[in-house]
Amino acid sequence: MQIARRMGRLGTETAFEVLAEVNRLKAEGQNIISFALGEPDFDTPRNVKDTATKAINDGYTHYSPSAGILPLRESIAHYISETRGIEVTPEEVVVTPGAKPIVFDSILSCVNEGDEVIYPNPGYPIYESVINFIGGKSVPLPLLEEKSFSFDPEDLRMRITPKTRMIILNSPHNPTGGILSPDDLETIAEIAIQADLWVLSDEIYSKIIYDGEFRSIISIPGMKDRTILVDGFSKTYAMTGWRLGFGIMKKELAVHIARIETNVDSCTATFTQYAGIEALKGPQAESSAMIAEFQKRRDIIYEGLNDIEGIKCLRPRGAFYIYPNVTEACRNLGFRDSKELQQYLLHKANVAVLARNCFGQRNEGEKEEYIRLSYVTSRENIIEGVKRIKKAIESKS
Ligand code: PMP
Repeated sequence: MQIARRMGRLGTETAFEVLAEVNRLKAEGQNIISFALGEPDFDTPRNVKDTATKAINDGYTHYSPSAGILPLRESIAHYISETRGIEVTPEEVVVTPGAKPIVFDSILSCVNEGDEVIYPNPGYPIYESVINFIGGKSVPLPLLEEKSFSFDPEDLRMRITPKTRMIILNSPHNPTGGILSPDDLETIAEIAIQADLWVLSDEIYSKIIYDGEFRSIISIPGMKDRTILVDGFSKTYAMTGWRLGFGIMKKELAVHIARIETNVDSCTATFTQYAGIEALKGPQAESSAMIAEFQKRRDIIYEGLNDIEGIKCLRPRGAFYIYPNVTEACRNLGFRDSKELQQYLLHKANVAVLARNCFGQRNEGEKEEYIRLSYVTSRENIIEGVKRIKKAIESKS
């Protein structure tokens, strides 16, 4: 039986494959410390869980409008208006099962076959996958370690062609933990306005920020109508398994995104949406405590990794990832690339990390090797995991 040709263009998130391997090793009885997956190890705040169970018991177990229930869209519109300093109405909000559908739906709605989309590389692998899937041309924008994992404005300018339709941003950034500076955002806004482009701004880590202040490109004058803002509840409220996210966009586009949702999901689970209202409007103490803990862990992992021969890393400023340069460690160990290091660490040190290739194709001329570690595990695990990495790397070099 046939599988459609387009499936050959759909990528994946290899983190889930590594997770399957980690689970297999754990089931065999191995004591694995995993820095592989990007989800908080904290429980969803109590008040949010209670609101969801109450909503189920109160009978909110039926379909809702495809764009989401009005009170949640109102709460989101209020939250975004406050945090981004713009005026957002509920018609400009679409609620989806997780933030991911907004990425997919936006590219599907705004990019024709043959159109070009610029996206950060290394980056969240779903961007490249979806651009290619819908028949667009993926144009990677290199993020450079020497620029604190921002980009060179010249690199961006030279990638703009008459076929460019969209620029994708992600700040704070997965996998580097970098954030875009106000100057970076101004540059992108200027280019987007001049070339009449959409900007898909993935702000899922907007609350998980340690140094500096979060800025969104949507706040820059002239950007609101061309920005599709992606955010959600998965990371800030440790709600990855609930599947609740949203997009902010001009209402002329919102109707199309909602129509895709009608075709694919009908709607997001109704009781989950009620829990979302509580997450936004209720007490924030649990979420804030989680983020404060991430910051402490960041400091521990940053110090620990930098103390390993052949590894050097920048201090992440947001999200919960660290992206060390492991070029020298790979060289000392005789490895061709960080993928070999990933395998070595998993099997020799019982530590799971993700290699550079999990985050998009290698940029032209890119010679350095990197791995990503998510520090969403206890301080004890982080200390022990770093110790294991140090031993495995230094004993062989
Ligand atoms: N964008 C980025 C940059 C992410 O890292 C993730 C989750 N790993 C998502 C979007 C998807 O979030 P959700 O689980 O809410 O779909």
